[in-house]
Amino acid sequence: MKITVDRAKCEGYGKCVEAAPKVFKLDEKFISVVSDPKGDTDQKILLAAKICPTKAIILEEEETGKRIFPLP
Ligand code: SF4
Repeated sequence: MKITVDRAKCEGYGKCVEAAPKVFKLDEKFISVVSDPKGDTDQKILLAAKICPTKAIILEEEETGKRIFPLP
């Protein structure tokens, strides 16, 4: 799964870090970055994306690039 954090949308709430601490971390500007895209299960990563209040986490299928979350 390809994980992208939209830095313009992230407001540093850290919910994603709480949900999947091995995958996301906050950088020095308190913006979420992906530290290890394989650090947790797809299920946990999807949960992290879903609880992000600003929908800043974009998930896509690795091979096809198909959008997994958020869907339009
Ligand atoms: S939950 Fe969303 S807004 Fe909060 S740090 Fe993570 S990506 Fe940023």
